Amino acid sequence: MYPRLLIDRAKFRDNVSFIKKKLEQAGIDTVVVTKVFRAMPELMDILHEVGIRSVADSRIENLARIGPEFKKLLLRLPMLSEADRVVQYSDMALVSELEQVIALDRAAKRQQKAYGLILMIDLGDLREGVLVRDWPSFFPQLPKLKQAEWLGTGVNLTCYGGILPTVENLQQLIDAQKQWAEYLGQGLPLISGGNSSSLYLLDQQQMPPEINSLRIGEAIVLGRESAFGQDIPGMHRDVFRLEAELIEVKTKPSLPWGKLGLDAFGHVPTHQDQGPMRRGILAIGKQDIYDEYLQPRAAIKVIGASSDHTIVDLKQLPLKLGDIVSFDLTYGGLLQLMTSDYVHKVLI
Ligand SMILES: *Cc1c(COP(=O)(O)O)cnc(C)c1O
Repeated sequence: MYPRLLIDRAKFRDNVSFIKKKLEQAGIDTVVVTKVFRAMPELMDILHEVGIRSVADSRIENLARIGPEFKKLLLRLPMLSEADRVVQYSDMALVSELEQVIALDRAAKRQQKAYGLILMIDLGDLREGVLVRDWPSFFPQLPKLKQAEWLGTGVNLTCYGGILPTVENLQQLIDAQKQWAEYLGQGLPLISGGNSSSLYLLDQQQMPPEINSLRIGEAIVLGRESAFGQDIPGMHRDVFRLEAELIEVKTKPSLPWGKLGLDAFGHVPTHQDQGPMRRGILAIGKQDIYDEYLQPRAAIKVIGASSDHTIVDLKQLPLKLGDIVSFDLTYGGLLQLMTSDYVHKVLI
């Protein structure tokens, strides 16, 4: 059945082992981020076999399906309205607000459950976290915990603002943690130094030794680091591959004719006359994946899409009706495909 997303278990396993080994050599614990593959049970089994013990996800629905063989971290700041469910289905959370801390501590108390908290610090990417310049006045306001416990601090970079982790900004995180630990008069075991965009610091031998945990998603699923978008030598780029079927193949003009109005998404399209073109229509559309995320493996070109159709320029390739076309994927594309019920997930 098409469209389908092929998932290569052996390649996934290789990628997980590769990252785990690389981080281990630097004294860093690998927390595998499962959100892009929605904590698919068959892939969770592989994580466990490879020796991964901590996983993280942004959705409590995914964490709820993961068994107790993993320590589970909630990545997205918890909603106040879901504090009880968060504590029930995870073992630790990233937090940045006083009320969040209080709500989770109370929920942990009610459930008599050990629960860990990691305070996020914003080092310039401007997504979640206490601004680093507000830190000295922020941490003394934190309540005394009754049940939950502080694990340490964390940062997320290269997500919203595109700001890279560097020796300088990670040092600010380390300094913040030291300052706080001294104030508390207790050790804080964990410094979570970011995501797949922090990997390049390891390759350049610049990762500060205090960083002892990273949360890795993209590098494992796509074999790419996310600071500069470079493929990682020794990793597989094609754990996931999309296949879609041609439902029309015809030579047509490349320039639409008639009076120009709006396209299916309310935009006024622009077109170039490239003469007659062998065009194919694939049975997949923006409801499954935005066309800009599709990277054809053959020498064809994606030229546009509506909700359920994707139009391709077949160029010189002898493709015919019913043939299957394959694509490599970007992060955004994979996220969308995993979330579409219309795309069949096939493990190979
Ligand atoms: C998604 C996410 C990650 C994983 O990022 P990758 O670039 O996929 O490695 C890490 N931390 C947080 C807070 C996230 O939301």
